[in-house]
Amino acid sequence: MILLKKIINRVINLKSFNFFFKKLRGNFVILYYHGVADDYEIEKIKGPNKHLFVSKSNFSKQMEFLKNNKIDVISIDELYKLDFNPPKFSVVLSFDDGYKDNIKIAYPILKEKNFPFIIYLIPKILNEEPWVWWIELWDQLQKKNMIIIDKDKIDVSTEDLKISLFLRIKKKMKLLQIKAQKKMIKELFDLSSTTNMSEFFLNEKEIKLLIEDKLVTIGSHSQDHLSLKKFSKNIIYDQINKSKIYLEKYFDISIKHFSYPYGQNEDIAFYEHEILSALGFVTSVTTMDYSYKKFNPHYLNRCSIGPNVSENDFKRKLLGVDRILRKIFFR
Ligand SMILES: [Zn+2]
Repeated sequence: MILLKKIINRVINLKSFNFFFKKLRGNFVILYYHGVADDYEIEKIKGPNKHLFVSKSNFSKQMEFLKNNKIDVISIDELYKLDFNPPKFSVVLSFDDGYKDNIKIAYPILKEKNFPFIIYLIPKILNEEPWVWWIELWDQLQKKNMIIIDKDKIDVSTEDLKISLFLRIKKKMKLLQIKAQKKMIKELFDLSSTTNMSEFFLNEKEIKLLIEDKLVTIGSHSQDHLSLKKFSKNIIYDQINKSKIYLEKYFDISIKHFSYPYGQNEDIAFYEHEILSALGFVTSVTTMDYSYKKFNPHYLNRCSIGPNVSENDFKRKLLGVDRILRKIFFR
C-alpha cells in the first residue's frame, strides 16, 4: 500500500487523474479537520491526539493548493442544493468539535481565500464546562508511570504503554456522558477537579462572531459526543434533537447538518437517517473515507487531514486515490 502510494505520488497529475477517478469517487470530496495549531505548538502535541491537529503552515499550503488549482470550495449547503453532483470537482471543508484555533488560526486563512466551511459543535461543552476526555486523559497519563484500575497495577512508564491504556479507556469513554467521564478520570488519577479547557474550545461569543460571516455554517456534532451505535433509539434521538434545539435557540440559526461523534462504522447504528430526516437535517457526515453502503446523504464519507500530510498526500486525498486503493485491497 505504501509503495503503491509512492508510485502514485510520482505519476499523479491532477487533471488527467481527475477524469479517471471521477466515476469511482464522485465529483466532490469533504475534507475534515479538527484543530489547526501554530507550527511551534504542533511539535508539543504527542500521542493519540496528534492526528487531530494540522499545523498552520500545512493548512495554509493546502488552502493555497486549492486556490492555485482553481478547485471549487463550496459550502455543505451548496453541495446539498447541487444534489451532491456539482458540475465541477468541488471540495467541502469541515471542522469537528469546535476548537478555538478554528477562529484564531484557520478562519483568517479561509476568510482571505473566501472559502466557506462548516464547524460541527457539541452543545454540552458549550453550555457546561468546555472539556473533553481525550485531552485530559492524555495529559494525566503523562504524569504517571503506573496507575491502578480495579486493584490492578498497570505499567504506563513508556509512551507505547500509555497509548495502549489510552485506547483501552477510550472504549469506555465513548459510552459515557461528560459527567460520568469526569468522574471516571477523577477516580483513576485521584483528582479533586478536572482541567478547565476554555482555552481549547470556541465559546459562545466567538461562535456568534463566526455566524455573522456568510462563509460559516454551524452543524451539530450531537449533544454529548457519544458513540451512538451503543445506545437505544430513544437516546440517539435525544442526542440529535437536543443538540439541534440548543444550537438553534441559542444562536438563532437553523441546524441542518450533522456529524457523527467518532464517526466510524462501530459508532453508527445506520438507522440514524430516519431520525435525522424527521428532524429536518439534510446532510450527515462520518469520519470514514469510504463505505460499501449505497449513497445516502446521511452517511457521507469524509477524508481526514491530519499532521504530516504532504502536498502529494493532499492531492491523493483530494482525488480519492487512498479510498479507492483501500476499496480494492481491503474488500
Ligand atoms: Zn468529534
